[in-house]
Amino acid sequence: MAAAAQHLIRRSFLKHCNAEATIMKLYPTLWTNVRVRILFACCSLGLAIAGFAVHAPAQQASHATPPSNAQLADPRIEARVENLLKQMTLEEKIGQLVQYNDTGDSPAEKTGEAKPAVDLAGKDKGGVIVAVNPVEANHLDVMQMAATGRVGSMLNTVGQARTNTYQHLAVEKSRLHIPLLFGADVIHGFRTVYPIPLGLAASWDPELVVSLGHMSAGEASTAGVRWFYSPMVDISRDPRWGRTAEGAGEDPYLGSAMARAYIHGYQGDDLSKPGNVAASVKHFAAYGAAEAGREYNTTDMSEITLRQVYLPPYHAAVEAGAATIMSAFNSLNGVPASANPFLLGKILRGEWGFNGFVVSDYTAVMELMNHGIALDPATATRKAITAGVDVDMMSHFYDTQLPELIRSGQVPMSVVDEAVRRVLRVKFATGLFEHPYTEGAEVTAAVAEHRPLVRKAAEESLVLLKNDKLADGVPLLPLSAERKKVALIGPLADSAGEMIGAWGGAGRDPDIITIRQALEERAQKTGGILLYAKGTEIEDNSEAGFAEAVKAAQDADVAVLALGESNTMSGEAGSRAYLDLPGNQEQLMEQVVAAGKPVVLLVFSGRPLVLDWAAKHVSAIVEAWFPGTEAGNAIADVLYGDVSPSGKLPMSFPRAVGQEPLYYNQFPTGRPAKGIDLSKPPGGDSRFFSRYIDVPNSALFPFGFGLSYSTFSYQGVKVSKASIPLIQALANRGKSLLEATATVTNTGSRAATEVVQCYVRNLGASIEQPVRSLKGFERVTLAPGESKQVTFPLGFNELSFISGEHVPTIEATHYTVWIGGSSLADQSAEFVVSIQTERAGAAKATHP
Ligand code: BGC
Repeated sequence: MAAAAQHLIRRSFLKHCNAEATIMKLYPTLWTNVRVRILFACCSLGLAIAGFAVHAPAQQASHATPPSNAQLADPRIEARVENLLKQMTLEEKIGQLVQYNDTGDSPAEKTGEAKPAVDLAGKDKGGVIVAVNPVEANHLDVMQMAATGRVGSMLNTVGQARTNTYQHLAVEKSRLHIPLLFGADVIHGFRTVYPIPLGLAASWDPELVVSLGHMSAGEASTAGVRWFYSPMVDISRDPRWGRTAEGAGEDPYLGSAMARAYIHGYQGDDLSKPGNVAASVKHFAAYGAAEAGREYNTTDMSEITLRQVYLPPYHAAVEAGAATIMSAFNSLNGVPASANPFLLGKILRGEWGFNGFVVSDYTAVMELMNHGIALDPATATRKAITAGVDVDMMSHFYDTQLPELIRSGQVPMSVVDEAVRRVLRVKFATGLFEHPYTEGAEVTAAVAEHRPLVRKAAEESLVLLKNDKLADGVPLLPLSAERKKVALIGPLADSAGEMIGAWGGAGRDPDIITIRQALEERAQKTGGILLYAKGTEIEDNSEAGFAEAVKAAQDADVAVLALGESNTMSGEAGSRAYLDLPGNQEQLMEQVVAAGKPVVLLVFSGRPLVLDWAAKHVSAIVEAWFPGTEAGNAIADVLYGDVSPSGKLPMSFPRAVGQEPLYYNQFPTGRPAKGIDLSKPPGGDSRFFSRYIDVPNSALFPFGFGLSYSTFSYQGVKVSKASIPLIQALANRGKSLLEATATVTNTGSRAATEVVQCYVRNLGASIEQPVRSLKGFERVTLAPGESKQVTFPLGFNELSFISGEHVPTIEATHYTVWIGGSSLADQSAEFVVSIQTERAGAAKATHP
């Protein structure tokens, strides 16, 4: 099945959640096509025997670190867990470790024979072994399983009626009455949808994310969902990877702030409080570094990069108390993340003290066979559970394989017991035993009272990339009242379904305000005229609609182009090799621009696109991501200046796809292309530098960049100490060591918000460090002419780096701190960490 179709089905699951919904009935079939072939040649008997012999002892976590979630460590919960565990049969214990989706009202059709979990057909033909879709291959009756305690949690089973039906079976019929936990992909809103996570990251507003998370948890819990497969905190530096849309972008500091915010929003301060849900942080780990941006692909990186760049957001989420973690599909340095003792045992449980449970990603345990590290389901199961994957999502391996693995001693009973304890702790902590059913009014449509919050979120997510002054010396945006006739053009101008993005939860099209609707409403109020022409489809070659679009532009005072990707072009299985506007939208844009009227380009995308032509020829560009339920209203607010844009890019926008992966906090090179005009092909003395011969190195729009309708200036960047003794830097881990400050002034004529950013560079360390790294940010709202001093505390976390021994450290080195409005901030101050105790004093500010 095409990726797009898969995606639609995924989105549609929640759309039908009120209906009796055989919601995910369709879903399993998707996976028959995810067949990754491995060479049978590798499958020698010797390897199989070796596989059995090696047991990863990662399950025993070191308890050096205190438990990450205090509520899960409550002794009262522990006593209840032990009491229950004592009564459980092996089958009931394993039941808690398996997860399925809804198989519908009647048990899955029981025609035909159940197929084996692996297809060995190819073995005799071409030497290929393929793991097959377990759900399709086996006629599972999940209702029956719930009634007998053989399933512990369910995914994407949504709606009061549906969840209560299953819960009734588990609680009333099963011997030990253990409730089910219902999880779902609620990623950027349930019924009232807010911007995709990448767009939300552009707000640089973690407090807003807390409110939105809490809002969606409240909505979804009325439909029986008590567990979100969110947040996705994978760092993504390569926009070819479609799941870039689901995360906070390229930076670990911003990513960590967002990760913490989602956890606080979803879980609140008490998992058992009505309206709070357990979070599942995903996908552990380093999934965002999929090679070449290709979905489900392998990742390979140094441990330093892993710890310095990719792990911090997961760690932040764990420290914030995340109740569960989802193990990733990818392998990391040759070991699949879903059977990876280093990630799940050493780091997650050992170093971070994670005391929630780990759920595999969808059929990730089965996929260990396709990865080629297990030749049969038993080995895949053993490797996953001993590495620390507690719950098997959809593979149908734990339930079929664990009994024999336990009996034969290949998996110790203690491993299963510990996994069951972890699941039960979360079930007790969420209050499921006391309140297994969902009652009261179910949220079945976007909630009117929630619209202002998602509108604010959409407004804050919009990034103004360009806003040229026209002949009259006035910037095109905000649109002036004189531009009465507006031509709205493009396939995304009136497309409700597209506005909610890749994981639009249970968002319903009728609830969504399109741009056309919002601009029409304004035109009616203000006596303006809105001309509308679709122009083309998102992915089309026909130019049939071009003439109408060009005519509309000619007849209008301004053209607003709504172009970009469909929401199925990002998210899971949405990798792209090209990053330009799909179909013939670029040609449509060129023809509309040629009409000679001022043009505003609104870009809808789940990733940075290549906007090279637009940047040269279009007067104003707004990156809109996928804004959610209030898309049209938020965009109209910004176009007409009711709101000044404040979004800043959470990912660098390239000039050409060949620059990827392109990110601001790169490492230096021995041949920096400093002071060279990279817009020209290299001549004799400008060639042997780290550069391309055909495109500049820099981003077209860099990380942290975004314009406003006002302007801001920065003065007096300084640090509170010129020198810090190394001994003090190493000893004061939780505290600030010095402060960096700057004064930011609104130099324009209207009130506006600026995201002030603080970057740090460390020179002279034993390990090469990035050219700069974000270490602080703050949203500051200023009236015209108003100034504010902004202060960034810098402590061990901000100044340390990962050493050659793979631990965070500080050395006696030189630091530069920049404060400004993007990753190109050019005002800086310096300080040193010194071996000798030096007298602290105010450092001198250096200006370029
Ligand atoms: C995705 C996860 C998602 C899960 C359950 C997987 O294919 O990778 O992000 O949570 O399915 O729907």
